[in-house]
Amino acid sequence: MNFEKTDILSLEFEKLEREVIALGEAKFRASQLFGWLHEKRVKSFDEMTNLSSSLRDKLNERFYINQISVSKRLASNKDNTVKYLYELSDKNHIETVLMEYDHGTSLCISTQVGCKMGCKFCASTIAGFKRNLTPSEMLLQIYETEKLEGKKVQSLVLMGIGEPLDNFDNVISFLRLLSDKRGKNLSLRHVSLSTCGIVPRIKELAELELGITLSVSLHAANDSTRSKIMPINNKYSISELIKACKEYFSKTGRRISFEYSVIDGVNDKHKNAEEIYKLLGGFNCHINIIPVNKIKERSFTSNRKSANAFKKYLEDFGMNATVRRTLGSDIDAACGQLRREYEI
Ligand code: SAH
Repeated sequence: MNFEKTDILSLEFEKLEREVIALGEAKFRASQLFGWLHEKRVKSFDEMTNLSSSLRDKLNERFYINQISVSKRLASNKDNTVKYLYELSDKNHIETVLMEYDHGTSLCISTQVGCKMGCKFCASTIAGFKRNLTPSEMLLQIYETEKLEGKKVQSLVLMGIGEPLDNFDNVISFLRLLSDKRGKNLSLRHVSLSTCGIVPRIKELAELELGITLSVSLHAANDSTRSKIMPINNKYSISELIKACKEYFSKTGRRISFEYSVIDGVNDKHKNAEEIYKLLGGFNCHINIIPVNKIKERSFTSNRKSANAFKKYLEDFGMNATVRRTLGSDIDAACGQLRREYEI
């Protein structure tokens, strides 16, 4: 990482415009520069042929264009899922997963290097937290994958390594850059952000009315079980979390999706479905059931059968739920596992 120069790819348009004016240049140069960075996605200022060489010199002096490189690419033999292990400029690693659905190409990106949240079933948090990703590092996961695969990402999920609401400001800047019509121009209606439940940040996010879908990792509907598997629950209880979710829905009109990873012997019983019904019955939301992915450091297990059985239990209470399709099962597409092989 270059500490003296500014990471230009992380600057939202208005900020870039201010920088261009501070360099003594005409305002319209900012649009040209932004287009080179986010539409044509060049890797050096010298390729920006409609900018004068004196401006290019000034840019080279003050800024750098961040880059990420591929350490490993794994392609599934079962479906079109591709997983990338990317190396950042400070040699840290993150994971990005490209998935093909009927509705189009979707990318799952990381938001932090490691994670502080400590969820017991999750590989991303085992070695702890290293640092937040910058807006450019989140964008580059899209730009690089699009280039390498020759595909356009049509929807995005912030469900890779890290807790996006624990890197709030950078994630919001990233979303503004992503949806800028001068760049990738992705509608935020095609973006889902997944959180373990940082309540004050959910409220802040609601105020911004970005139009994104909020996914909430619930995994248990009683406080004692949830606190055992998700330490964040000791800070914000289930009732506080659901209150914030209801506020989010009434403020934004966007239906919340609750993630529920079924874990054998932990949260897979009929009574657990009843708890969900008592908590969420009557609330216009979606429940996404996931068979927990086995990670080698932990003994949690479940399979498609337990997930389908749990879906039936929920249906007994008149609740709709879907079981998430398993993609890339042969390449450990669940995030955090590949990076661990590299970091230790
Ligand atoms: N920190 C965010 C986003 C990253 S995790 C969050 O907690 O939501 C993305 C999703 O994968 C979350 O729902 C998380 O609980 C789930 N997850 C993590 N490890 C898993 C595993 N081994 N099996 C199934 N789901 C897992």
